[in-house]
Formats: sequence, C-alpha cells, structure tokens
Amino acid sequence: MTLIQLSELPYEATALEPVISRETIEFHYGKHHQAYVNNLNNLLPGTLFENSTLDDMVMKAEGGLFNNAAQVWNHTFYWESLTAPHNQGPSGAIADAINQNFGSFDAFKEKFSAAAATLFGSGWAWLVKNGDKLEIVQESNAGNPLRKGLKPLLTLDVWEHAYYIDFRNRRPDYIKAFWTIVNWEAVNKRLA
Ligand code: MN
Repeated sequence: MTLIQLSELPYEATALEPVISRETIEFHYGKHHQAYVNNLNNLLPGTLFENSTLDDMVMKAEGGLFNNAAQVWNHTFYWESLTAPHNQGPSGAIADAINQNFGSFDAFKEKFSAAAATLFGSGWAWLVKNGDKLEIVQESNAGNPLRKGLKPLLTLDVWEHAYYIDFRNRRPDYIKAFWTIVNWEAVNKRLA
C-alpha cells in the first residue's frame, strides 16, 4: 500500500521572502499541498493505483485520483524549482539550451511569462524538453506534461492560491518576481 508523504521544503519558510512570504508558504505548502496529499491517501485504497508510484498515478490515473496525484507532484516540483531571491539568470547547459531554442534569455522570459499570464483560470506554465528541443507549455488545473511524453524542467504555479496573499490579483507582478527566485541549478540538474 503506497503512502504518499508531503515532501519537505528544501529551505526555511522565510527563504523566498519578500517574493513569497512565510504566510503564503504556510497556506500554499502547509494547507493546499498538504490537502492534496491527504486527499490522495484517502482516495487510493481499493483502486488500481494503491501500490503504484506517484509518477505512475500522474501518468495513468483519471478523475480525482489524477487531480490530487498531479497536484502533489506539481507542487513538489514547484518548491524544488525555487530558491532565495537573487539576480542571476541561467548558466551552463540550460543557458545554452535556452539561447538555442528561444534566441535569448530575455526572449524566453517574455514567452514563458506570457504563457503564465494568459493561462485562463487555474493551472501551470512549464518549460519542458521534447526530444532535443525546449518548449513552453500551458496546463490547466492539475495538468502535467509527463502525460504528453514531455520532460518537465521548470514550472510556475498560477493558481490564485499561489499569489493572492502576496500579490492579491496581480498575477503579472508575481510572474515578474518569480524570475528572481528560480533555482537554475535545479533546472540544470533536470536537464542533465
Ligand atoms: Mn498551488
């Protein structure tokens, strides 16, 4: 019987301030992410997936089981995409790949930010690897690019619960600030 655990944050609850406040972490990680974990553990018994890995559930489950499994996966990936505020852009292999695929880091930022800003309702903006190419994809609700055979490299949660405490309704300001907390080292490891 699989027991899904809430993954530990890779930093202190205040580490992302002032972009993401302790209060947002308390709600977004402590309440929302935790609730997806709890819901999934309640739903799993008696299903085809009760002994499956989380990845398997994300790839193959449907309905509420998929929604909660993917939200658990997506949030862990999101937290692990972030780090304390800094002024550094990508370096190493991910910097080269971004330049090759999008022309420049600024052009990539603009395209990814537009994808995050124009996603209607709740969902996620993703940078993914598709074969040898990098692509930006939008996913609604709990959507996860693994289901399309794509390799996730970076994600931005644009559900209102991700930014409403710190930015109220100003999703574009949240997206702009996101660039100062991206953990490019983590993205490089995913690309490798
Ligand atoms: Mn969220």
